[in-house]
Amino acid sequence: MSVSVRDALRMAALYVVLSILWLALAEVMLHGMADDPLALAVGRQINVVLWVLFSAVLIYVSRVRLLNFIGIGARLRCEDRERLRMAAAVFDSTLEGVLVTDRQGLIVHVNRAFMRITGYQQDEVIGQRPSKFKSGRHGQAFYQQIFATLAEQGEWSGEIWNRRKSGEIYPQWQTICAIRNDDGELSHYVAVFSDISAIKHSEQELAYLAHHDPLTGLPNRLLFTDRVEQALAAAQANKRGCALLLLDLDHFQSINDGLGHTIGDQLLKLVGERLGEVLGNGVTLARLGGDEFGVLAENCQQVGQAGKLAQCIIERMREPFLFEENRLFISASVGISLFPSDALSAEQLLRNADAALYKAKSNGRACYALYTEELTAHAQQRVETAGELRRALEQDELRVYFQPVHDLATGRQVGVETLVRWQHPQRGLVPPGEFIPIAERTGLIAEIDTWVLRQACLQMVQWQAEGRQLAFVAVNISSRLFGQHELYQQVAEVLHDTGLAPALLELEVTESAVMEDPEVALEQLHRLRELGVTLAIDDFGTGYSSLLRLKRLPVQKLKIDQGFVAGLPLDEDDIAIVRVIIALARSMGMQVHAEGIEQAEQASFLLLEQCQLGQGYWFGRPVPAADLRWD
Ligand code: C2E
Ligand code: MG
Ligand code: MG
Repeated sequence: MSVSVRDALRMAALYVVLSILWLALAEVMLHGMADDPLALAVGRQINVVLWVLFSAVLIYVSRVRLLNFIGIGARLRCEDRERLRMAAAVFDSTLEGVLVTDRQGLIVHVNRAFMRITGYQQDEVIGQRPSKFKSGRHGQAFYQQIFATLAEQGEWSGEIWNRRKSGEIYPQWQTICAIRNDDGELSHYVAVFSDISAIKHSEQELAYLAHHDPLTGLPNRLLFTDRVEQALAAAQANKRGCALLLLDLDHFQSINDGLGHTIGDQLLKLVGERLGEVLGNGVTLARLGGDEFGVLAENCQQVGQAGKLAQCIIERMREPFLFEENRLFISASVGISLFPSDALSAEQLLRNADAALYKAKSNGRACYALYTEELTAHAQQRVETAGELRRALEQDELRVYFQPVHDLATGRQVGVETLVRWQHPQRGLVPPGEFIPIAERTGLIAEIDTWVLRQACLQMVQWQAEGRQLAFVAVNISSRLFGQHELYQQVAEVLHDTGLAPALLELEVTESAVMEDPEVALEQLHRLRELGVTLAIDDFGTGYSSLLRLKRLPVQKLKIDQGFVAGLPLDEDDIAIVRVIIALARSMGMQVHAEGIEQAEQASFLLLEQCQLGQGYWFGRPVPAADLRWD
């Protein structure tokens, strides 16, 4: 029952009570005032007239109030209608999407902006749940948090990713309100949202502009520094190294001054593109400002690698740049700083590379320099060496030297080890330690080793013909070649070509090469053994051999690394290791051969420990065949 009906009923009841009271009181008073029946009748008449008058006044007052009430109500209703009409117009013309659900979460209303933004028509969504628009970018927890906030505060605002009818997902800024009725019960939810993909896009664009150079599109100094920091953190965690290269175009100012800034800008763009081609993926390239570019080479462990990269960049920069039929020649200088050897922080690395760049410029430009001077020379030499090695092979600059191997018991020379040398036109006699690792990286090692093998076999055949009593000629085989299938064929071919008896040839493989891939090694050694050659493990004791594996190898000799021989006969550790190696070799039926014997005491100690063979400066240094002494 409404409030007004209840009020009216109360008023009617009051009127009834008052009327009865009035009549009863009047009757009592009339009887008190007069006993005469005529006077009583007149009194009753007056009383009725008075009651009628009072009632008329009451009716008049309530009628006036009622009319007033109806008038106000009508006016109010009219205003309400006006307000609702305005709300509906706002609701429909607002740029924000509006969605209303009932308290069960079913959509009851959407506006025009909603349809424009989402691509859905009204009838496609009415009665559905807003979860229809989920993008899949937020987890369950995200939505739970929205409902928790709504239950607690009645309102939630935030960024949310939804999906349009087209399937495209987009960001919205959304405000959701819980609506309650007069009794405080939840009746609806209203969500008002705007599409903020444009804002997001400009944010991204701003971020891009803040981190990139507009001319070349490359990362700028800010992003580059950030990348360097990240790379250093990763390198530290993975115990790796990286190199930072700073490149500066030589005399770029004169191009700007002479040909104008437009050409200057175009040239910088072309330089950026060319650098991109040289460097490829996995290397970060940035324009740090002016004509300065930064290169971050992650996973660049060695100085030589960084030097090679710098050289490659310098050479590509020397190639002409084309401008509408005109060719423009420039050059570039590069400064290199390495992590972790030169610096531990991004800032320091950049500063060091800058110092190195300055050094490169003062060294005459069109070259590179490392932060550390000695490294510069070293790296440069390595790069040059790689280029020159091929020429060395073609122009017969390699030489074979032979070092005698003696029987420790009899003191007689029983064999020789072949050791390669490079007779460099400028640098003189270059030891193998300076070019074998480079030859291994460039792949030239296969050619070098087969050349040495052939020379050694030819020489041995000649010695045999001269009646020299030698039990073997030993040749070193690189781990790179050892891993290749062709090795077996190459050895067979050389033996066949030179006519050397296979039993006179000994092949030395380092312990680390054998342990690199023990299964492949086992197969390779068996095949070589089938040829009839002797097999020795070189530098034994440095490669962490598995004894079990060692036992399975068809090897006849262990060569104790010279590092252990050096400490004999005093160093306790070396004594212990040498004893173990000798015992091990003997237990497996192998011969033991000690390298690097420089003193008589070392030879006698080894003999005492029952080591059979010895090699070292004490017996003789490696020399050309002609200089070898014969007993
Ligand atoms: P390696 O096979 O262990 O050769 C022994 C090295 O020790 C030789 O150095 C030799 O000159 C040196 N040596 C000999 N006796 C003594 C001594 O008493 N004291 C000292 N301090 N050193 C001594 P070299 O000729 O410089 O060769 C170094 C390494 O280069 C060789 O170690 C071998 O691994 C490699 N190598 C040499 N020639 C060839 C080759 O033709 N092919 C391959 N793949 N590697 C080779
Ligand atoms: Mg050797
Ligand atoms: Mg050795």
